[in-house]
Order: sequence, then C-alpha cells, then structure tokens
Amino acid sequence: MRTPSTGREIILQAEPGRTYLDRETGEELEVVAQLLPLAPTPSDLPWTVDNLRICNWCNQFAQKDLNDCPTCGRRMAPLDR
Ligand SMILES: [Zn+2]
Repeated sequence: MRTPSTGREIILQAEPGRTYLDRETGEELEVVAQLLPLAPTPSDLPWTVDNLRICNWCNQFAQKDLNDCPTCGRRMAPLDR
C-alpha cells in the first residue's frame, strides 16, 4: 500500500472491501501490489476444464496460469494461444 502524498509504502495483511488509512496523514492508501496466498495451490483459477491444461511431462492436469506443474514440479512447455 502507498500513501499518495508521501510515497511511503507499507505491507499489511488487508481484507477485501476495507479501506486503509495512513497513520500520519490520514489519507486513503492506494493498493500498489497484492500478494496472493500460496496454499492450497499457487493458481487462483478455478479448477475447471476451461482453465486446465495437460502437463507435457506427467500428463496430469494443471491450471493454465501456472508455469510449473503442481504434480511433478517441472516447468511446463509454453501454451500455444
Ligand atoms: Zn507434470
């Protein structure tokens, strides 16, 4: 999160829908980056056919937004789009 006037940045555990204010200036903080939880999978795509591909190493399903296969851990070939 960043304070617009000072450019000061802080990292905090934010909850969706809440507004966070800078302690010193009272300004609303801008969200400049988000970290997504890792567990249970590094993908944030729902586990549906549209979002899945087949790993070229182990032939197991993996979400399309992943670079590394969650089953065998190997780097998957680039998707042809
Ligand atoms: Zn694999």
